[in-house]
Amino acid sequence: MKANYGGGTVLRPYDSSYDPLVAQQPGHGMDYAPTYWVASAGSPPEDDGPIQGDCDVDVVVVGSGATGMSTALYLAQDHGIQAVVLEANQSVWGCSSRSGGQGQNASGRLSRSQWIERWGMDTAKRLDKEIREGFDNFKALTQEIDCDAFDGGHLYMAHKPSKMDYLRNMAQVRNEHFGYNTQIFSADEVRERFCDEREHHGAMFEEEGVGVHPMKLTFGLIRKARALGVKLHPASPVLGVETIGGVHHVRTPGGTVRAKRVVFCTGGYTWQRMHKTTRNKILPILSNSVVTRPLTDAEMKACNFQSKTFMTDTRTLRFYYRLLEGNRLQLGSRSSITGADAEDPVHLKLLTDAIARKFPPLAGIQIDYSWWGWVDVSHDMMPRITRPDPKQNIWYAVGYGGNGVSFSTWAGKRVAQRVAGKDADQEVFNLPIYNSPLEFPNIWNTVRSEAFAPFRRFGQYFLYKWYWFNDEFI
Ligand SMILES: Cc1cc2nc3c(=O)[nH]c(=O)nc-3n(C[C@H](O)[C@H](O)[C@H](O)COP(=O)(O)OP(=O)(O)OC[C@H]3O[C@@H](n4cnc5c(N)ncnc54)[C@H](O)[C@@H]3O)c2cc1C
Repeated sequence: MKANYGGGTVLRPYDSSYDPLVAQQPGHGMDYAPTYWVASAGSPPEDDGPIQGDCDVDVVVVGSGATGMSTALYLAQDHGIQAVVLEANQSVWGCSSRSGGQGQNASGRLSRSQWIERWGMDTAKRLDKEIREGFDNFKALTQEIDCDAFDGGHLYMAHKPSKMDYLRNMAQVRNEHFGYNTQIFSADEVRERFCDEREHHGAMFEEEGVGVHPMKLTFGLIRKARALGVKLHPASPVLGVETIGGVHHVRTPGGTVRAKRVVFCTGGYTWQRMHKTTRNKILPILSNSVVTRPLTDAEMKACNFQSKTFMTDTRTLRFYYRLLEGNRLQLGSRSSITGADAEDPVHLKLLTDAIARKFPPLAGIQIDYSWWGWVDVSHDMMPRITRPDPKQNIWYAVGYGGNGVSFSTWAGKRVAQRVAGKDADQEVFNLPIYNSPLEFPNIWNTVRSEAFAPFRRFGQYFLYKWYWFNDEFI
């Protein structure tokens, strides 16, 4: 898919080994990853070409994923502020064109029981209200924008019998404390009503869950935002931000954009050297995905696919999967630790083995699309939508931990409110995701530079081994 660069910028080839933790540059006009979403999203919306020359603006949003585009949309729609969006590569180049498209009533990696443990019942209930409001807003967007939305809930599949107690407990907490109608299904009920997934031992079903075509959704956000006067500049990587007399000089290869306010919405692709507020504040983690060829009628029958409800399993290194429009199966999980190792066939095999285990009639099925992307993991597995330094007009909305399809759109709404100065009196901004910055604990602060990245990844390597052992054998 070619972008509509007004400035005639040459499209650079996609670099599959790109690794934000050690990259020397943030990317510059790179082609898209070879995803099913890119192949099926249709033509990209018009954009405003790369930045050419210096200019003065009010608000710069960095990153054109779902977070950046919803921030720009809500700034324009709710507050009459027309932001300028700077994107290093092409529009929607990062995770928002690579995800599983599973829009959950969640944000970050922690469950509601973990919220209670960490922050107490009162805060957990307020956080639930907030995240649910965000989910409802996301659901409304999926009805306004043509994005192949399937409003069929989420099945959380027990990958071993011992996980059923964990799911029963989770359902009880959800229902008793948060008023949901979460149900537990036996393996036979799942096989009859949803699909014949052979690995699971029963599942928790939550009604709240909308599967989407994530790139069509974000293209829709772009179209809405541009109709309200937002400018989107692809191939305009932010190489640094210097603040002089309260004005932020946002440096790109084509010129410097001088802005009163800046919002970083760069997710797992946050380049280490972009700005000190985001440096070493998230750990980028690779996630893989595959999409099969369309299933035949016989295969659909053999797997008893009755629904496009999306599924995840109870592994810590979880698999996520669902039947897409056109009866292709998508499945994904964790990937390699470094970008340099991402092409190793062992990571693809992890996914094709999982397809064979979960859906034996599909063993060996042709894989039409295979890709990966960097998700943004924060120090406590929860996102942050905040202004880290009250003296600077710089905000960020990052850290969804691989769970941002739905919440990124609400994060955009909330950060827009903050940028517009409408966050002073609202109690909601006392919630932990809004009232504290991203901060890795001391152990991370001692290993600040890229030179030490291999050491962090050493730790990640051993954690993955432990999680795998725990998932499969304990
Ligand atoms: C394989 C995979 C599967 C996933 N599946 C799911 C799922 O099923 N459900 C779910 O909820 N979440 C999922 N996620 C996570 C989800 O995709 C993200 O949380 C969400 O898309 C985040 O959007 P974003 O706008 O914050 O970031 P992104 O979409 O990554 O956008 C960030 C943008 O910032 C740009 N950028 C970075 N640095 C600069 C710079 N210096 N200058 C200019 N631009 C810059 C990047 O080029 C990029 O386009 C998945 C992620 C992956 C990779």
